[in-house]
Amino acid sequence: MTPDVRPLVAGNWKMNGLKAATSEIADLRDAVGRGENGAAEIAVCPPATLIAAAAQAIAGGGIALGGQDCHAKASGAFTGDISAEMLKDAGCAYVIVGHSERRAGHGEGDAEVKAKAQAALAAGLTAIVCVGETRAQRDAGEAMTVVSGQVRGSLPEGASAANVVIAYEPVWAIGTGLTPTADDVAAMHRSIRLLLGELIGAEGARTRILYGGSVKPANARELLGLPDVDGALVGGASLKAADFLAIAAAYR
Ligand code: PEP
Repeated sequence: MTPDVRPLVAGNWKMNGLKAATSEIADLRDAVGRGENGAAEIAVCPPATLIAAAAQAIAGGGIALGGQDCHAKASGAFTGDISAEMLKDAGCAYVIVGHSERRAGHGEGDAEVKAKAQAALAAGLTAIVCVGETRAQRDAGEAMTVVSGQVRGSLPEGASAANVVIAYEPVWAIGTGLTPTADDVAAMHRSIRLLLGELIGAEGARTRILYGGSVKPANARELLGLPDVDGALVGGASLKAADFLAIAAAYR
């Protein structure tokens, strides 16, 4: 945790959830209304098809919504894509960019991720910029170099603590049940913090750096209590309100 920085626990539903799953978001809204999130800000990033229904479900509640990706352009002939402006219009406050599943599955590199983050800022969204090394890169001792290169290459112009969140997600920890050691997470977050200081000055000290990769109720307290870890980006365990809240309970 970073003193005086409100942690963020964000759920990435990926390509999961039909209309009935909106009830999980309503359950989250009610739990946040009862203060079960403690000090944490809660955000949910459902699939695009559920954003409108989710916006209705959270109306008047203390939860933020996010998209899982956006196009770098505000509008145009890009069949199947969604712009940051559209996400904002639909009720989102956040958008995830550069998730490893987009980097690997859609060939997105740092320049494209940066352009998407830039579009997010232009639309008034906060960009959750994902970075993280593969297992092979960690084994080769390249994790810090890879991640710092991604942060340098993906951070949009005008980034600040108010409009950017970094999510450190080791690719090999996503959806695998594996996590780095607490020391490795702390060391990576420290290194990202120092780099942010170099890139955006005093804003870097207050920019939230989330950890993501197999965060569960059982490991949340240890991981989220580490220095420079300002919350979590949660995949699988965010699909059920009860599990997601049990992770956020680390901040109670
Ligand atoms: C993610 O996809 O961002 C993620 C962290 O997934 P999981 O929590 O399932 O590892």
